[in-house]
Amino acid sequence: MKVTQHIENAKGKTLFSFEILPPLKGQNIQSIFDGIDPLMEFNPPFIDVTYHREEYEFKELANGLLQKKIVKKRPGTVGICAGIQNRYNVDAIPHILCGGFTKEDTENLLIDLDFLGIDNVVALRGDALKTETYFKPEKEGNEYASDLVKQISNLNEGVYLDEDLQNTAQTNFCIGVAAYPEKHMEAPSLDSDIHFLKQKIKNGADYIITQMFFDNKKFFDFVAKVRAAGITVPIIPGLKPIATKKQLNLIPHRFSLEMPDDLIMEVVKAKDNDAVRQIGIEWCIQQSKELVAAGIPVLHYYSMGKSDNIKAIASEVF
Ligand code: FAD
Repeated sequence: MKVTQHIENAKGKTLFSFEILPPLKGQNIQSIFDGIDPLMEFNPPFIDVTYHREEYEFKELANGLLQKKIVKKRPGTVGICAGIQNRYNVDAIPHILCGGFTKEDTENLLIDLDFLGIDNVVALRGDALKTETYFKPEKEGNEYASDLVKQISNLNEGVYLDEDLQNTAQTNFCIGVAAYPEKHMEAPSLDSDIHFLKQKIKNGADYIITQMFFDNKKFFDFVAKVRAAGITVPIIPGLKPIATKKQLNLIPHRFSLEMPDDLIMEVVKAKDNDAVRQIGIEWCIQQSKELVAAGIPVLHYYSMGKSDNIKAIASEVF
């Protein structure tokens, strides 16, 4: 079922959902199920699975030269989605990227998803490769998430890349897109970011799912700005409980966001990471309760494959 349908069916009740990432290559899918099992009691209507594109590694050879190697450290997004739908009978949502894909690759991926009975996707641009300063699309690929959304919407209309195909089947994808309450790291301003967000909705996106934030005011202000820009689709907040002291520096740097001073000081004063984990859980419970009280349709947790802290939060909120 489509995410938008789940929201409609909930009739105003806030739903619980979460995101997982595929295991490192070499691990078993059981590690994924072990992370999901403890969260099933909160009845997630859908579970997101991230996509991880290829990376370049350089291996030093005996003669001193460097050999460039392309590696995919976390393959398996589509297989995991099929596994989740099969095992739990809940909707699994693959994230799909512009980066690393030609439009032809994307079309073939969408056909696989359609045949597997997966009718939700989150359409993203993806980040620049670690070896690149700026994001570079494939030669025949989509440049921005809005272009990818357009391609998916076209397929929903039965419009394939090969215009000679006749009597084509229409897909029925519900399309989610990303947004950033504290603006995307490359965007010159929040207004410009919202301008391009609007393009994603115009091209056919059905709902928005946000980057994590630690200050609900930033989310509420963002929603007000998005609504003022004429965007009416559901906006699902993304939440992540902080779990280590290191994340105080890593998260703002990696995701270009600010942490509230109160949270920072609590974490700084914590005696070890067990204490930080507890602070992160408590903070996220307070954030979640306020969002539920505000009538937000779904809370979406970034679990990073670790279910203990998400379970502790969900037990207090759902
Ligand atoms: P876009 O919407 O294309 O925007 C990228 C930037 O370009 C923004 O600054 C925007 O303002 C600007 N822009 C957009 N259109 C135009 C235009 N026409 N002209 C000029 N500028 C424009 N990454 C992964 O690799 N795998 C994942 O599974 C994954 N899941 C994610 C889930 C969520 C909920 C979020 C918030 C992010 C996720 N990401 C993931 C990270 C995401 O790929 C990066 O943040 C990426 O840098 C931007 O993706 P986007 O889809 O927001 O890009």
